[in-house]
Amino acid sequence: MKKKWKVFVRAVCFVARDIPAIWPLAALTAVTEAAGPYIEIFLSAAILSELASESRSMEHLFFLAVLMAGLNFLASAFSRFCGYALETLRYLLMQHLDEAVADKAWRMDYKLLGDSKVHGQKKTINNWLYDHGMVAMVIQFQTLLQALVTIGISIALTVEFFRARAQGDGGLARFLNHWSFPVLFLVLFALAILYNNWAEGKTQKRQYRFTKDMEGYSNQRTELMKACCAEYHRGKDVRVFHEQKMLLGKFERLNDTIAGLWEKASASFRRLGVSSVLVSRLFNLFVYLAVGLKAVCRAFDVGNLLKYTGMVTQLGEGVTGLFNTARAAFENIRYLEDYFAYQDMPNRTADAVRPVSSDIRDNYEFEFRHVTFTYPGAAVPSLTDVSCRFGKGEKIAVVGRNGSGKTTLIKLLCRLYDPQEGQILLNGVDIREYRYEEYLKFFSTVFQDYCIFAFTLGENVAAESEYDRKKAVRALEGAGFGPRFRTLKDGLDTQLFKNFSEDGVELSGGEGQKVAIARCLYKDAPHAMLDEPTAALDPVAEADIYQRMNQFIRGKGAIYISHRLSSCHFCSRILVFEGGKLEEQGTHEALLEARGLYYKLWHAQAKYYQEEA
Ligand code: ADP
Repeated sequence: MKKKWKVFVRAVCFVARDIPAIWPLAALTAVTEAAGPYIEIFLSAAILSELASESRSMEHLFFLAVLMAGLNFLASAFSRFCGYALETLRYLLMQHLDEAVADKAWRMDYKLLGDSKVHGQKKTINNWLYDHGMVAMVIQFQTLLQALVTIGISIALTVEFFRARAQGDGGLARFLNHWSFPVLFLVLFALAILYNNWAEGKTQKRQYRFTKDMEGYSNQRTELMKACCAEYHRGKDVRVFHEQKMLLGKFERLNDTIAGLWEKASASFRRLGVSSVLVSRLFNLFVYLAVGLKAVCRAFDVGNLLKYTGMVTQLGEGVTGLFNTARAAFENIRYLEDYFAYQDMPNRTADAVRPVSSDIRDNYEFEFRHVTFTYPGAAVPSLTDVSCRFGKGEKIAVVGRNGSGKTTLIKLLCRLYDPQEGQILLNGVDIREYRYEEYLKFFSTVFQDYCIFAFTLGENVAAESEYDRKKAVRALEGAGFGPRFRTLKDGLDTQLFKNFSEDGVELSGGEGQKVAIARCLYKDAPHAMLDEPTAALDPVAEADIYQRMNQFIRGKGAIYISHRLSSCHFCSRILVFEGGKLEEQGTHEALLEARGLYYKLWHAQAKYYQEEA
């Protein structure tokens, strides 16, 4: 309970800090909304009393009618104004929360991004962000305060109702004036409220269970819809392999499961909804009877009859609103807990504090010391007991068969994952100790599955919106994109892909790779790492790019992963991987002489690249 309270207070403070005007505005909206109905109740009662009175005055009636219309207008206009202003602030809050969820995803430890549980958590939060959690809290606060104000005014009127004495000596008047009448009234009132409160509580619990049961399926459905069916790039495979039927089948099965869950939940919503409406209406019937009988016994005039029935309805609504909102606010804490659990996920890479001093950049050495690494959930290590060193200015080639651990090596070097055994050191210090942001400035990379966004060409090269245009063009030329660049009429401002623009330019696989290489060159980091950067290029283009890149990154360190051994010639050292182990290392000539794995791979490939070899 204490934990829940803490979460609640944290959320209140978070919202207050994010949008300070939101709580005062919600309070103002609540008071205006609560006061509105009483204008009608009081003034229409006064009008009716005036009409029923023998000494009625037309001026007074006119005055009351104008007053009612005027106050009604002011109250509704003001409450609408506040309501819309509050809605705008809630929308703003939702956007900020949405941004915070995305920001967390961008900053969290990379390995968590691949965790399906964390991925599901993020999706689920995105799905309910507007209906639950902090955004809902604002409405709950408003409803709660509105209920309290309503209850306060209604209680004052209820006391007045019970104190009005029925006239006459008959049994009915005696009963209406007896203490048992208010007690009966209050007991029935309490029973109706308790039942409705119970029914609403059950509905909300069921709703939460339904949301939880459904979220996995719903996330899968969104993923299936977005990624497999509607995405331009995946559309090719879907068509060629006639995958529509399989996808549609999966989609329908998910829909059926969700519909089944909803049907089960909605049967219970229907039962509870109908029974609570019945109980409310029965109690209202009793109220009309009780107020009517008191009016018949001349406890008050006909105008007050309207006032008291209105007041009891308001009291009922107020108390029901209070209970329901308090319960909803309590249930809502679970969503707040889910939100904060996601936001509080530890970010180990951000814990490191050691600065990367500028002199390290001029003289550095990386060392893998007995590094063993297994991917989360994998049965066998992807790297086993790897030890090697490389430093400034060295060009290293990493070769080996598919799945031998080459990419994993550079992922570890970028600290996308941390090894379970051994250490990776930079100038003798474990890289886990360096400030991550600063440490990453060491590297420019072209990953195998590099990512080009549907932004402009220049933004993709520079990885930012404000950039050095001359440097971006130089990087594109360096990456061999020059001839294609010159065909683009908008140059660096060319929009890539068609996601956001009809005129977007599609890139071939090889062109995409060149843009990724240009981004690597633009960053101009001390150490470049290229994971099969030329896989989509023909051997001639590949040789051309390697030559250009070598000039570009002269004097800097580089790691090239390539499946074409012929392109590793120029590297000062070659690391040969097999089954996650560093089998051998040395120069091209030394490795050929050693007649080991490299020798075998070289001769196997030479058959296909006789000319090059
Ligand atoms: P290479 O680059 O030499 O082709 P990788 O380093 O990509 O090989 O992969 C080495 C091994 O690790 C492979 O067996 C691969 O299946 C596995 N692996 C790669 N990425 C992951 C991952 N995210 N989760 C689990 N296993 C992975």
